[in-house]
Parts: sequence; C-alpha cells; structure tokens
Amino acid sequence: MRQLIAGNWKMNGLSAEAAAIVTPLRAGATGLACDLLVCPPFTQIAAVASLLAGSVVAVGGQDCHVNDKGAHTGDISAAMLRDAGATWVILGHSERRQDHHETDALIQAKTKAAIAGGLTPIVCVGETEAQRNTAEHNQVVGAQLAGSLPPGFAGVVAYEPVWAIGTGKTATEDDVAAMHLFIRTTLVQQLGPNGEAIRILYGGSVRPANAGSLLAVPHVGGALVGGASLKAEDFLGIAKAAKV
Ligand code: PEP
Repeated sequence: MRQLIAGNWKMNGLSAEAAAIVTPLRAGATGLACDLLVCPPFTQIAAVASLLAGSVVAVGGQDCHVNDKGAHTGDISAAMLRDAGATWVILGHSERRQDHHETDALIQAKTKAAIAGGLTPIVCVGETEAQRNTAEHNQVVGAQLAGSLPPGFAGVVAYEPVWAIGTGKTATEDDVAAMHLFIRTTLVQQLGPNGEAIRILYGGSVRPANAGSLLAVPHVGGALVGGASLKAEDFLGIAKAAKV
C-alpha cells in the first residue's frame, strides 16, 4: 500500500506564503514513492489547486459542512471544496473537536457528506495526554472510530495523539505500533475485510528526522503533518522517508 504524506496547514498561508510552499513542492514531488496531499486554508484552495494542476500533489480542505448548501454562515460544503479544486478533506481534527465542540456523530455526518460530494475523507482520532496517562487511549480511540466512521467507510484514518500535536513530542514507536494494530483490528471488526485496505496515518510532531522510523512501523500508512508541512523542504524530507 502506497503511503500518504498529508500536510495540514491549519490557519496558515497568505497568498505569497502558499505560493512559496507549493512552487518548490511541485518541483520536488515527482518520482516520490508516496502520495502527497496539501490541505491549505479555504481561502487558498483554488490558488493552490491551480499552482499544482497537472502535478502529483493533491489538494484537500480541513473541514466541510454536512449540507451541500444553504443558510450556514461561514461554512463550506464538500461541493464547494470540489469546485475549488480539492479532492480530499480532513475531518474531526482534534483542534476542531476541541475548538468547535465537534462530536463523533457530527464527524460521521460530515464524513458521509464528504464521500457523497466526491471527496476522500481523512478522519482523525486520538487521545489526550490525561487519557493516555490513565490508560484509556484504546477505549477513547475505539469509541471515536465507532462513532465517526459511517458504515462502509472508504477513506483514510489519522491517529493523532492530542498531546503530540504541535508540541515536539512524538509517541514512541512501540506506542504507535500498538495503537495502529488496535486501529487496524477495530477497522476490520467494523468494516469487514475492507478495513484491511484503509491507510492509517500517524500524526503528531512528524519531522524529517523522525519520519523514517515512524513510517517504518507496521500498519502506519503515512503521516499527517502540521508544522513541518509549511516548509517545502521539510515536507519533502518527510515524503522521501516514506516506506516503499
Ligand atoms: C496536525 O496538525 O495534524 C499535526 C500533526 O501537527 P504537527 O505536525 O505540527 O504536530
């Protein structure tokens, strides 16, 4: 299974910054052994999609609404993302679960809307530091998978321990191995044999220096990268570490 290296720019990227990331990214992306995706803020999606047109780098959004259109001020639908040039969308990121009080049920509804709208969803799960310290991580992630993934889910899951996001701390390879095996087993229980084919990304302070060891862990199908995706050189450094 080809690994996917996905960049989550979060609320970063004015026009000049977006161009400064994707221009060298486009040039450096050919011939890599992995799939590449960038998820800029909504305002940059059309421009980034145009700069990357015809390249191997795909473009995604960072959220979408459950409805196609209507009276939802400030929201963006899957159809709008597609129209702007996106083919992917990140859903249920821990920052949205926290800042916007997104529940598993809402994330499941968004996931259905994304698939119906022709986008491939990346559904994020992960425990907080307190939950890890009280050994509740499997229970928490299991409940998130059960609640957030619709029946017949076809997409990508990202395991992102909340305490590792943007902190410089990464989960140990043993912890990543144990959690990714747990997620794989849960996906197969939930989805049947199709659960074997779902890529499970690791996210949380992935950098060029630690990417090789994290991407070599069994059942790691790629990385969801925040901070390091804002520099083309670092993002490409992570992509070059992808397992063939
Ligand atoms: C993320 O935003 O999903 C993330 C993993 O961020 P960082 O790589 O900065 O920890």
